[in-house]
Amino acid sequence: MTTAGPSSPAELVGSHSGFRIAHFELARPSTVDETLALMREGATVMGGGLDLVDRMKAGLSPRCIASLSRVEALKAVSFDGQTLRIGAGATHRCVSSDTQVNAVFPDLARIWSGIGNVRIRARGTVGGNLMAAMPAYEAATILAACGAEAVFGDVDGGARPVPAGKAVDTSGLLLHVAIAEPGKIRLSIYRSLRDYALVVRGDFADGRVIVALGGLGRNPLVAVGDKAEIPALSGSHADYLSAVLPRLLERMRRG
Ligand SMILES: Cc1cc2nc3c(=O)[nH]c(=O)nc-3n(C[C@H](O)[C@H](O)[C@H](O)COP(=O)(O)OP(=O)(O)OC[C@H]3O[C@@H](n4cnc5c(N)ncnc54)[C@H](O)[C@@H]3O)c2cc1C
Repeated sequence: MTTAGPSSPAELVGSHSGFRIAHFELARPSTVDETLALMREGATVMGGGLDLVDRMKAGLSPRCIASLSRVEALKAVSFDGQTLRIGAGATHRCVSSDTQVNAVFPDLARIWSGIGNVRIRARGTVGGNLMAAMPAYEAATILAACGAEAVFGDVDGGARPVPAGKAVDTSGLLLHVAIAEPGKIRLSIYRSLRDYALVVRGDFADGRVIVALGGLGRNPLVAVGDKAEIPALSGSHADYLSAVLPRLLERMRRG
């Protein structure tokens, strides 16, 4: 484990931007087991650090940070003929440029390439996006429309799958997201409503449709069914969305 900043926990690390970050220990595990052991001791995990560092500048002061940058197992993308698995530590750029993702689920690669800008895509990770609990972030909404699962490693061992749209309500280390039969899903996204919501629609080969609506709360709203109706909306944007969504979904269906 390395130590970042001055030796006294009370001291603050200065930065060029004028923000000051409280002293913390920096651990660089190289395996999932090492990461889980550090989490058992109270470490906070860090993907690309885009959100976490901002929160530290705003006063969050974790005692120990476990950087996932050396945990190669968490960056892996694999397809076994049935399920596409994308490691929590994979960057957005990795998802959109990966040859397997492009081969088995080109819609996902294309949609993922629209996340953030070049710098954000090079640094931000799938896990960090899902776990940051920011309603405007897109990973949970996109993955919910794919019917994806988020698979967590518990600090006491074992793996736990949860619906990707609910990942943020789960504790533990996010290992990967799993998308079953990606070749049978067509994905469309509508980003222009962004001030209100993000809409992603998954059309499955068996006729199922999943519509996920993000940006309105902690978790995306998810509707499953032939008609893909959006669940009852409330809040200040409800009237506008209720009026615009049916037309938008129809347009997305027609492609
Ligand atoms: C200028 C800017 C523009 C952006 N534009 C977009 C956009 O258009 N669309 C979009 O979707 N997003 C956007 N983002 C968000 C970006 O995509 C990043 O994904 C996001 O900031 C978090 O990624 P990270 O790896 O840096 O997370 P981190 O800061 O490392 O972590 C965020 C949180 O997740 C937790 N965490 C990280 N990895 C794991 C794990 N494996 N298991 C459990 N918990 C974990 C951390 O503890 C922390 O609480 C933008 C961000 C910025 C700064």
